[in-house]
Amino acid sequence: MKIIKAERLRRLPPYLFQEIDRLKAELVAKGVDVINLGVGDPDLPTPDHIIRRLQTAAEDPETHQYPSYSGMNDFRVSVAGWYRRRFGVELDPLREVLTLIGSKEGLAHLPLACINQGDLALVPSPAYPVYHVATLFAGGESFFMPLQRENRFLPDLKAIPPDVARRARLMFLNYPNNPTGATAERDFYERVVEFAREYEILVCHDAAYTEMAFDGYRPMSFLEIPGAREVGIEFQSLSKTYNMTGWRLGFAVGNAQILEGLGQVKSNIDSGAFNAIQHAGIAALEGSQECVGRMRQIYQERRDVLIAGLKKVGLDPDPPKATFYVWCPTPKGYNSKDFTSLLLREAGIVTTPGSGFGEPGEGYVRMALTVTKERIEEAVGRIRKLSF
Ligand SMILES: *Cc1c(COP(=O)(O)O)cnc(C)c1O
Repeated sequence: MKIIKAERLRRLPPYLFQEIDRLKAELVAKGVDVINLGVGDPDLPTPDHIIRRLQTAAEDPETHQYPSYSGMNDFRVSVAGWYRRRFGVELDPLREVLTLIGSKEGLAHLPLACINQGDLALVPSPAYPVYHVATLFAGGESFFMPLQRENRFLPDLKAIPPDVARRARLMFLNYPNNPTGATAERDFYERVVEFAREYEILVCHDAAYTEMAFDGYRPMSFLEIPGAREVGIEFQSLSKTYNMTGWRLGFAVGNAQILEGLGQVKSNIDSGAFNAIQHAGIAALEGSQECVGRMRQIYQERRDVLIAGLKKVGLDPDPPKATFYVWCPTPKGYNSKDFTSLLLREAGIVTTPGSGFGEPGEGYVRMALTVTKERIEEAVGRIRKLSF
């Protein structure tokens, strides 16, 4: 029998990381000591008090049954409390908070709730690939908003043609930003709310990195802007903040009608997040935030070592104020893939080519601060020996 792949899979963008994965495996097999700055996955363990809460919760048979579709009430109350303390934003836990099985799950399902066949979504580029792929899966089309250094990696809303804006149903945004490390301030979010109102566009703000910021900087929530809740929702994740990527726990907050639609999609696809994990989530959000402060300090030190090292060899990345990514321009004469290959073949360092996140990412590589300071020092030493 011939196995037919669905058209939507054939329309997926090419997997640019395949070549790197292959090369990396080859080098590891040869015994090369590979330094992996490729993946955005925290290297440090989940804090103990969160693990202990999972252990006790998992022993309680009440957590063994199907969870509620929209999430445990106590977890959603805990999210509302965290938003109040952290951002001064008041949320109705039952209507304005939805538990997710990781924020990627919610981001991927959102277009099914608000996009019709042929509708446009405004998608930043370079970006986390989920926004574009989820739009495709829902039968929509992406209009890419380039993120460029001269605009501090913010989309230029004035450059979006009015006929495109009128056709658009949804806009994805993500600050602090993966992969560029850029941040957004109040004036930008105010322009977004105004734009969304004018063209009746739903805003989906991915805020996975608000807690990973340095030098005392505290990124804001999109929902702090007056009128934001009328046009959009925000996605948060426990993955990066509490080193919980493997646990799969996140949430969406904001506009109750959008969340109702997303909840409807989810209730027909999944059956909610394991209650014991939501109990652990409560421990994370309500417990001491000292562990988060420690992580910020660790990433900040790593950032400083990497940025100083890159500057010494003549590269010119902006030091990120937030996220654990350094978005480094390639040296003259190298495109993203060339430089990624050079780093891998000649220095055993895995990085991600900027072009893999979308065409406007060409000319950059992304380096993740997910190895120890000592390993970053080692990486910097190896880069210094290269000639480019
Ligand atoms: C890591 C990341 C997430 C978080 O995904 P989870 O599914 O919550 O683990 C979301 N958005 C971006 C941009 C990310 O980099």
